[in-house]
Amino acid sequence: MIVLKSAAELAIMREAGRIVARVLEAIREAARPGVTTTELDALAERILEQHNARPVFKGYTFSEEIPPFPATITASVNEELVHGIPGSRRLREGDLFTADCGCLYNGFVGDAAITIGIGTISPEAQRLLDVTNEALAVGIAAAKAGNRIGDVSAAIQCYVEGQGYNVVRGYGGHGVGRTMHEDPHVPNYGRPNRGTLLRPGMTFAIEPMVLQGKKEVITLEDRWTVVAKDGKLTAHCEHTIAVTDNGAEILTTL
Ligand code: MG
Ligand code: MG
Repeated sequence: MIVLKSAAELAIMREAGRIVARVLEAIREAARPGVTTTELDALAERILEQHNARPVFKGYTFSEEIPPFPATITASVNEELVHGIPGSRRLREGDLFTADCGCLYNGFVGDAAITIGIGTISPEAQRLLDVTNEALAVGIAAAKAGNRIGDVSAAIQCYVEGQGYNVVRGYGGHGVGRTMHEDPHVPNYGRPNRGTLLRPGMTFAIEPMVLQGKKEVITLEDRWTVVAKDGKLTAHCEHTIAVTDNGAEILTTL
């Protein structure tokens, strides 16, 4: 079931989104060679506290067999596509580092992610990063009232594959509201003019997850970290958006 948000609810979601954007900007500033991903996680937690927001990833689980996620952000480096657990790993010059953060503020969720180049990165890594950011822009541009979810999915897939990369299949965007994962699912692949019709008041996360190599991924023994099976580079970025009468409004922005 898709829940349309009122103007008052959207105002709160804008606040939640701004808090997440502040977290990610602080991480962008702090993510340097030598910094550990746990230090970045602690920074995120402090900023959420300062804004009376709660992390939504911490304690999250989707199955009794999976241990609850232990941190405020997910921290995924290089071949790690999504859901990396922050730890003692130090970022190194040339890494591609992805931070994803979700917060709950005043009853509503904001969810966004960025991939950052650490220090000087290779031209190949920079191109992957640029394509991933542009894939998000292309997806957001397709999120117009009257279009369908399939138009967003197809726009992302078509752009990414046209650049010689792949999108992952088993993970994607999702409705966002009072909880982090609502309907509809927003795959990064699909066919135009299919799926749910987009209407003003719908709010969902668009999150291209792009692989430099093949599209197959595996989950590590920690039960969370999803990595490219071929070990090649990956990137991921995300905004929560609202469908309006005039295109998509990005909620997770300053
Ligand atoms: Mg996210
Ligand atoms: Mg998300």
